[in-house]
This record gives sequence, C-alpha cells and structure tokens, in this order.
Amino acid sequence: MKTHSLLQKLYPSLLRDTWNSQGYSIFFLWYNKSTKNTMHLVHLYLEHRTLKLNQTYTYLAPHHCVKGMRVRVPFGAQNLVGFVVKTEEFNADVDLGYELKEVIEVIDETAVLNDELLNLGLWMAEETLAPVVSCFQAMLPKLSNIRSSVKTIRLERWVIKTGQPNKLSPTQQAVWDVVSHESLYTPLKKRFGSPVDTLIKKGFLTTEEREIDYRSQLKDKQESYLSLSLDQVAALKAIRQADKAVCLFGTTGSGKTEIYLTLAEEALKAGHQALILVPEIGLTPQMVARVQARFGQDVIVYHSHLNDTERYLQYKRVRDGEKTVVVGTRSAIFLPFHDLSLIVLDEEHDNSYKQESHPRYHTKDIALKRAETFKAKVILGSATPSFETYARALKEVYTLVKLEARVKGELPKIQVVTPLRQQRQILAPETLKAIQTCLDLHQQVIILLNRRGYAPILQCLVCAKAIECPSCDRLLNVHKEDNLLKCHSCGYQTPLVHVCPHCQSTQLRMLGVGTQRLEEEIRQRFPTAKVLRLDSDSASKKNAHGQILEAFSNHEADILLGTQMIAKGLDIPSVTLSIILEIDQSLLRSDYRSVEEAFDLVVQTAGRSGRSDQMGKVIVQSRLEDHYVHQFAKKHDFDGFFRYEMNFRKVGQNPPYTYLISINASAPSQALAAQVLYTLMEALQSSTLTCLGPSDLGKVQNHYRARLILKGKDLNQMRMMLQEKLGQLSVHPSCELTVDVNPRSLF
Ligand SMILES: [Zn+2]
Ligand SMILES: [Zn+2]
Repeated sequence: MKTHSLLQKLYPSLLRDTWNSQGYSIFFLWYNKSTKNTMHLVHLYLEHRTLKLNQTYTYLAPHHCVKGMRVRVPFGAQNLVGFVVKTEEFNADVDLGYELKEVIEVIDETAVLNDELLNLGLWMAEETLAPVVSCFQAMLPKLSNIRSSVKTIRLERWVIKTGQPNKLSPTQQAVWDVVSHESLYTPLKKRFGSPVDTLIKKGFLTTEEREIDYRSQLKDKQESYLSLSLDQVAALKAIRQADKAVCLFGTTGSGKTEIYLTLAEEALKAGHQALILVPEIGLTPQMVARVQARFGQDVIVYHSHLNDTERYLQYKRVRDGEKTVVVGTRSAIFLPFHDLSLIVLDEEHDNSYKQESHPRYHTKDIALKRAETFKAKVILGSATPSFETYARALKEVYTLVKLEARVKGELPKIQVVTPLRQQRQILAPETLKAIQTCLDLHQQVIILLNRRGYAPILQCLVCAKAIECPSCDRLLNVHKEDNLLKCHSCGYQTPLVHVCPHCQSTQLRMLGVGTQRLEEEIRQRFPTAKVLRLDSDSASKKNAHGQILEAFSNHEADILLGTQMIAKGLDIPSVTLSIILEIDQSLLRSDYRSVEEAFDLVVQTAGRSGRSDQMGKVIVQSRLEDHYVHQFAKKHDFDGFFRYEMNFRKVGQNPPYTYLISINASAPSQALAAQVLYTLMEALQSSTLTCLGPSDLGKVQNHYRARLILKGKDLNQMRMMLQEKLGQLSVHPSCELTVDVNPRSLF
C-alpha cells in the first residue's frame, strides 16, 4: 500500500487509470514506462445475448481507438461488438504470460458515448442490476444504424440563383421571381414544370444536393404569449428559487405547460439546452404543437416513431451542441446533451416512463442523475403525482410547488352510476341520457374502456369451458372485426370458431365487453352520431392515432371511445362529457398500486373535459359506489386520497414505505422456475429483508413464470445482497432470470 501511495504521488493519472482493473501489472507498467515500444490496449464490455457478466475484456487496438467507440472483436468462435470504456498504453516488451487478441474493426469514426454517458451507463447498471452493455445500448438511437445512417442520409435538391438573365419567357420569369436566392427543387418543379429545368440548362440556376434538414419542415414560431396568471407567476418564482428537484403539483388545466415553456425559453435565452419529456408523443400532439409554436425551428422532437435517418439527424443536432428545446419520450433522456439546464417530466406519474425490458430503468431516476451532473433543474409535473414523488415532496426531498386554480373553466362534476346487472347493460340509463344531452348540444363525448377487442371470453354453454391460448394460461379474446381469436399476452391468433373444440357444441357465447363491442353498442344506440375508436388495434398503422385524435379535435366526430390511450393529454374544448367504464377490477386491489392508478385515471379523464367555458361532467360506472376512490375523486381531492391510501401502504409495508425488487424466472417447466427462486430465497434469508413468494405467474408462450419479491428499507443493501447471491447462484441454462428494481406493477 505504501508503494501505491508513493506511486500515486508521482504518477497520479497513470494510477488512476490503471490501478483498479490492472493492478497486477501496474508496477511493471510504471517501471517500464521509459521504453518507447508501447501497445494500445482497450478495455471493453461485450454485446452478447447470454453474456451477462458485468466484466470488461481487454484487447489490442489501433491508436485512434478511444473511449466510447464500438469495436468488433474475436470472442471464442464468434465476432462480437464491444464498447470501449477505457484505454491504456502498455509496454510491448513485457510478457503478460498470455496472448492478447486484436480488435478486428473499429466501428465508429468518433466516440458514440461521451464520458458523461459512459459513467451514466455504469451507474445505471448498478442501479438497475442490468448488464452494463444493455445500458449503453439503451442510450443510442438504434445503435447499429449510427454509422450506416451517416452514409444513407437522405439528400434533397436545391436550386441557387447564379446568373442575371435578361430575356425570360413569362413562366421562366415567374420562376425567377419566386426564387429569392435559393429554393427547394421539387416543390418548384411541381408548381412550374419544365421552365425550372430550362433555367438550370441555361445556367441561371445551379443545383446542389444537400442533407435534408428537418428543421425546414418545422413551422415558424407563431404562438402569441399567454399572459400568466398570478398563480403561475408565484409558481415560477418558487421554481426559480428551488435548489432541489421540483414536484409541480397542479390540477389538470392549471397551466403547467405554460410554466414549462417559460422555463425552457429562459434556458434557451441563457444559451443552454432544455428537455421536455412526455409519456407518449402520439398521444400528446397538443403538447408538441405548443412547444413547436413557441420555439419554431429551435425544437427537436425525438421519439420512437421517427425513422432511423430522422432520429440520427435529431440526435446529431443535440450532440453538436445546438441550443434547442427537445420534446421527447423516455429515450430522449439519453440524448448527448452538452449543456442541459432544464429537464421536465410532464405527467410524471405515467407508467410509460418506466422501461419494461432490459435495462429496467425509470426515466425519473436518470433525469435526476443527469441533472446532478449538469446542475440542471428537474420539474416533475402532474395533477396526480406518483406516491413515491409526492411522499418525497412532503418530506422536502423535492421542493413542492402547487398550482391549484384552473386557468379556464371549472373542474368537472364527477358522478358515479351503477349499471343494472340483470340486464347485462353496457351503459347505464343515466349514462345514455347524458350522452344524448351532450349530442343534442353539439358537444363531444369521450368513453374510456380499458379492454380492446370485442369480448374477452368465448365460452361454451354446454361444457362451460372457455377457449384458451394453446401456449399461455390466458383466455383468447374475440376480435369480431377481423373474425379472429387473439391472445393479448403472446399475440397468438386463430380464426374465430363457431363450434366448441371440447364438446363440438355450437352454443358459444361471448362474455364481457371490449372496445369493439362498445363501439357496436354506441352505433346502435346513437345511429346519427359520428363515432371514432382509438385503441392499439385501430391505431396500429403509422400515424393512425394522430389522425384519429386530430379528426376528433376538429369535431369531425361526436364520440371518441377507446382504451386509456384517450385519457392522456387531450385538450379539446368541446368535450363536455367523459365516461369511464369497468373500473371496479382496479378498485378491488389486485396490486398495491391499482387503487392509485384507478384514482389517477378518474382524475386525469376528468381533466380532459370541460376545459373551456362549458362545464364538464364525468360519469364513472361502478358497482362499488361507496368506494373511497370515488369519494375523493368527486372532490378532486388528491391530498385527501393520498393520506388515506398511505394508511394501506403503511399497514402492508408497501412503497413508498419500503422498496421492492422483483426477480422473475421463466423456464420450460413450473418446477424449474420455482426451484431457482426457492434456492435464491434461501440464500437471501436475513433479518432486514423480507422475501415474498415465490409465486406462480402462469404460462406465457410455453414458458412458466414465477416471481420472488424482495422488500426492504435500504435499497442499496438490497441490491448489493441480491447481486452477490445472484453471482453465486447456478441457473439452469433453459431458465431465464430477470431483475426489476422498483417494479411499477406486480400483476
Ligand atoms: Zn363445449
Ligand atoms: Zn398466448
């Protein structure tokens, strides 16, 4: 250790870079440093489906290969891609006792991950217990395309004025007048035809191929500034003064967006970058439109529906340090910002901020971490903050800023009605009446039913069996529209049957209601009303959901029905009635968060109606009329609901009182899935950790699944213990284990 400290004094940088992983060779390295013959070594993490070891491998590489680049290397009989996380110069004369292999190819021309992102990836791997390489992969826009997209960038043709013509035909003159200095070729040609080419041929115009600039497709700034209410001014002041992350708690329609825009504008004016995150871009067209209207070409819209080239170009603008406001979904949190001073998570309670595949990160955690690095401000905005966020705000871990009054319109009235069971009503008489009233007034209605398809069950009346998916423990859903039975778990589909496969009876009946059946019912009841349906079936085509929402906001339809896709972000003044169906299952507490989610759904849906001068109304159909969720929702009382529901969390010792980590096993047999979790549980027995389970989660796609839950108060300790025990655990190769730190749902 003494030698080490001495060396550290003499060669601090040398030691810092090499001691940890290559401690054994440090002394030689130092001793031989005077020798000129050095080799360039790279330490890297490998991409491999089963290689989940968080371990680096060392290779020889050409000198231009630096940290943050990807390389192709030999590994066993394969060639794998690796992410370089460290480089070092090494004396070629020293015999290591083993042979170093050489990098086959350096993939990137420059580093694709800068130091900040590399460190973020390493940190994320520790936080989520995910393989390091999966964290790096998550940060890049379809990584394999980064380089190829440089070569396949789409070009567009421009014409530029060069000469000074004296004699032109009238149409040629018209073209000449339109082109002020330069212009895009295609629209010009479309408008004027061959005279454009004649001008080019005569040499008055030259042409040039240029990289398509998506900014040119954006509209210019056009929004006139809204004047801020006194509440908004006060909230802004509190946010500016806050030295912690801010929980901006504001009822729907209280003007949170205007606050985000004001802060983003300040960031931009001060020469920084700003990031506004939304749960799903297609479902929040109004937010995107408002940001674009305010910032024009300074906006970058970044989400998964962009094609590879569009994505790459937007990515590049951020990487090149352009001063912009980025609006994007989850993946935008990983953009290579240079100087980020504001991160907004709008609708921070939304589940889509959590990634449900490797690495299972929550966008909020990444936002807080990056904000720490950039000294940026984080705003967590919602009308129904998640319990974790709100509890921290009350404990002053975050600064709580409230924005209570609605800018326009009053909060809608929420009414709970009970459909009659014996008549198998989909819609209660009060609901039907309210819809009719609304239609008579030429106002719009939204109806939410969180189940797609026509009916969830196809049952035989003779043998009483329902038709199941052949590879899952799930019932098949009837999709009458395409004459199919579909499994919503694995995607299996088969033609709709009319004969029971068990007893050959023809008496089959459909049970339950999905959005397709609801649509049928509505069309029958209100034959003159125009109806649109929005669910993942109707929105499966690209841009379809955007078109449906746009048509509805242009009042091309009277009724929009669909899954909870329609409850997000929609701000249409003439919607005065919102209806929520089938909420009871969530109220019966199938998961510790299900009641919270049901409350969010009612309040968020309520927020969609009556956002102008007309009073809005919400009808919730429920047989549990007296449930406290309804009582608090009717008063729009989030605080009251939070305090009441927290009692249940405390009794059950559920988050935010504790932390959870779920470990899922998937195996070809039930016994195998359960056994590996039992072994893990035994290894984890300790006084501070509670293990729940393992519980059987049934079969999906012929794989049996089981789950073990760890519950505890010290998340770091839980992670460390789990990581240690997982390292020692021998897992059958056919069994797959996945870890989810802070799981959002335990269904
Ligand atoms: Zn039958
Ligand atoms: Zn299935």
